[in-house]
Amino acid sequence: MTDYDPQAIELYRSSFVFDGHCDTLGDAIAPPPRGRDLTQRSEKGHLDLPRMRAGGINAQIFACFPGVVRLNACPTQAALLRLEAFYDLMRRAPEQVTLVRTADDLAALTPDGPIGGILGLEGVEALAGEMHLLYTFHRLGVRNIGLTWNPRNAAADGVAAGSAFGLTSFGRELVEACNALGIMIDVSHLNDAGVADVLAVSEKPIIASHSNARAVSDHVRNLADNQIRAIADKGGVIGVTFVSHFLNPNVREASLNDLLDHIDHIIQIAGVEHVGVGSDFDGCLPPPELDSGEKYPAITQGLLQRGYAPEDIRKILGENFRRVFLEVLPAQ
Ligand SMILES: [Zn+2]
Repeated sequence: MTDYDPQAIELYRSSFVFDGHCDTLGDAIAPPPRGRDLTQRSEKGHLDLPRMRAGGINAQIFACFPGVVRLNACPTQAALLRLEAFYDLMRRAPEQVTLVRTADDLAALTPDGPIGGILGLEGVEALAGEMHLLYTFHRLGVRNIGLTWNPRNAAADGVAAGSAFGLTSFGRELVEACNALGIMIDVSHLNDAGVADVLAVSEKPIIASHSNARAVSDHVRNLADNQIRAIADKGGVIGVTFVSHFLNPNVREASLNDLLDHIDHIIQIAGVEHVGVGSDFDGCLPPPELDSGEKYPAITQGLLQRGYAPEDIRKILGENFRRVFLEVLPAQ
């Protein structure tokens, strides 16, 4: 492991670390050479249980990507296979990983206990336009729903749809149902009109699990200042993400400093209560200083070097995401 400053290590170890997004379940079900056993430390990918524990991650949103980029793929099957991969991981490593369904489950997580997994959908293609299936996925433990990936679906248009359309009536109904069920709405990947509609319809705080600031790096997947402000005004959180071309479109591999610039900017716009971290591990090319779960302490060190107070660093590393999920998840 890289050498970090002792103060950074101590602060990191005693903080609750909550990562808002990873695509790691896709690696668990992929055929070789990408496929791997997440209970074992691997040279491949970014996250597995040993590297998460070494990096001190306490809670993690595991996204179930519905496989919309593959022709002939069935999105419902793709999501179910990823959910089952998580349950399989829990079966094989029950002391190391547990499912978070309720606020009580989240509150019960401890730094030395199992990692809390929050299951998410990245795009509602898996619902196949059926509201009934939202209840099925809720029963299966899904507690975070990104309405779209990049293309259009039955609920809304993703950033690649190139449209100015907002939520469909199905999308509005979904947001209301998620509010009632205690499922977090996640606006990463949604187009601007969709974000505005979610902000208008949702009665609960929302998150952008893995998005950066457009004012720092002008990419359509990043958020404009008015969106950052509006998400914060609703009590929500923006998870800065390690995707190199969102951090800095001028280079192939971005740096930790680029990530810290986005954190600085979001804090300037929205305050320190509304920024978190959503790595997109196993779904992106991250900065070399952050190319595995065990390098997470680099963020703590970088924030200390930029003069942030320890209590603010704890908020960024996980307390903010923890707070908003405690508010939105069902109590029990
Ligand atoms: Zn994504």
